[in-house]
Amino acid sequence: PRPIKQLEAALEETASMRKNTKVKEAVIHWFKMDLRTTDNRALWEASQKAQEAGVPLICMYIVSPQDFEAHLTSPPRVDFMIRTLHKLKQDLAALNIPLYVETVAKRKEIPERILEFMEEWGASHLYANIEYEVDELRREASMVKLCADRGAAMVLFHDTCVVPPGALHSGAGKQYAVYSPWYRAWVAHVHANQELLSLFEPPAKNSAAAREKVAALFDCEIPDVPENKQLSEKDAKRFRATWPAGEREAMDRLEKFCDEKIGEYGKKRNFPAEAATSSISVHLAAGTLSARTAVRTARDRNKTKKLDAGVEGIQGWISEVAWRDFYKHVLVHWPYICMNKPFKPEYANIEWSYNSAHFEAWCQGRTGFPIVDAAMRQIQSIGWMHNRCRMIVASFLCKDLLLDWRMGEKFFMEHLIDGDFASNNGGWGFSASVGVDPQPYFRIFNPLLQSEKFDPDGEYIRKWIPELRGVKGKAIHDPYNRGAAAEAKKAEYPKPIVDHRESRDRALKAYKEGIGRD
Ligand code: FAD
Repeated sequence: PRPIKQLEAALEETASMRKNTKVKEAVIHWFKMDLRTTDNRALWEASQKAQEAGVPLICMYIVSPQDFEAHLTSPPRVDFMIRTLHKLKQDLAALNIPLYVETVAKRKEIPERILEFMEEWGASHLYANIEYEVDELRREASMVKLCADRGAAMVLFHDTCVVPPGALHSGAGKQYAVYSPWYRAWVAHVHANQELLSLFEPPAKNSAAAREKVAALFDCEIPDVPENKQLSEKDAKRFRATWPAGEREAMDRLEKFCDEKIGEYGKKRNFPAEAATSSISVHLAAGTLSARTAVRTARDRNKTKKLDAGVEGIQGWISEVAWRDFYKHVLVHWPYICMNKPFKPEYANIEWSYNSAHFEAWCQGRTGFPIVDAAMRQIQSIGWMHNRCRMIVASFLCKDLLLDWRMGEKFFMEHLIDGDFASNNGGWGFSASVGVDPQPYFRIFNPLLQSEKFDPDGEYIRKWIPELRGVKGKAIHDPYNRGAAAEAKKAEYPKPIVDHRESRDRALKAYKEGIGRD
């Protein structure tokens, strides 16, 4: 059975037991990818429970280096999470709520450690928001039962998406595999269930007496970033300046974007030299911002309360946030995409080139295609890449270099500060034409045309490839073939590693043969 079904079955099996569990000494909220106090559903519900029973609310977070390995979590992202935990601890302490953080070596130890912690503090209830990756859903299903076996209740909520996975079905009762009809259903569902955009207030303050009972937990230290995920001092400084952590920063970023840029989003969002997008993906990934708050805040700038009417930029932006929901719905319904498999089985037979020199050139931003190289240097430098460029470099990897999309997907997770399995897998599936609702395989981006169209003055290229700053005019898009070969050579900028026309033909052939193979 699909992991979500296992979880649903575990919840059903234990429903009456959970209902009858009496609150003992404390209620716990387990933070995962929901590192915020405001608009956090499970945290708010946990707080309500604790208040009703007059017991303390305790918050906990478990750091597992093995989990970071398993999810390929990038060092900047781990650093961002640890910085966020420091802020979260302060915010919760102001509400008399302790944030207890512990490191466990192995991820399989997490459930048992949480149960022990519950026993230590006499906690009868464990609250959490559901995570939708396969391992996480399975872990949650087993924890629901483990808790029940020990006379405790695990209470779970859908929180990370605006519309919970599984809520939308086509007329035939099936999960949508195409975005547009799914999006229309998503909008209609939110319009019919306006509470999906309601704000969950921060947790209520623990009383002084409740605080006293859990006083020892306030001394807990936030651990350092695990050794294998540490950034050099220079990198840490740059990442911290570019991506300040915490939910207040997330809200400021969102408000500023909605005040200054959202109106022009539709016109400018595809141009990487313009800072025209919100850059809140890092916050949505770490959970320092909820998708509900993102959509509600944008909607409230519109005169209409509709998501698909009014200012075009606002509608367009909301529909992009909806892509995030879409890919999580896809992941929950077709969990095999978590197992390195293409969404469409016939795409499993493409013969990739596995040319390691080409892969290395792509990773290093030294392919000789300036728009590709600029984007790859952007990700290396700040852990983030503009969406248009993500599509360009992904298409270049799979089609021009005929490299396995999974190599690119992995590299992105290892480097992005906003790495999110579902969105990343969805984006790679789209660009490599192997995913759900993909770019058709015969639509192959021409990197030069993409560069001329979306970075017409070469501003983005010059920003990220300093050695090409002296190249004037249109030659910036292809210096070796546009009259700037001498400058490019002097600057030791590489010649193009492939010929686009030839590699396009090669890709078309390989895709066609792969799909046709049994
Ligand atoms: P905005 O344009 O301001 O959009 C607002 C929010 O909408 C984003 O923060 C994001 O949460 C969501 N969103 C926008 N576009 C998409 C999309 N195509 N798919 C899913 N959600 C979207 N996004 C990630 O959050 N993590 C990833 O690991 C990731 N990997 C990607 C890999 C590839 C190959 C591609 C093509 C796209 C990937 N995306 C990923 C989607 C998208 O590129 C980023 O969400 C976006 O660039 C983030 O910048 P922003 O916050 O300024 O976006």
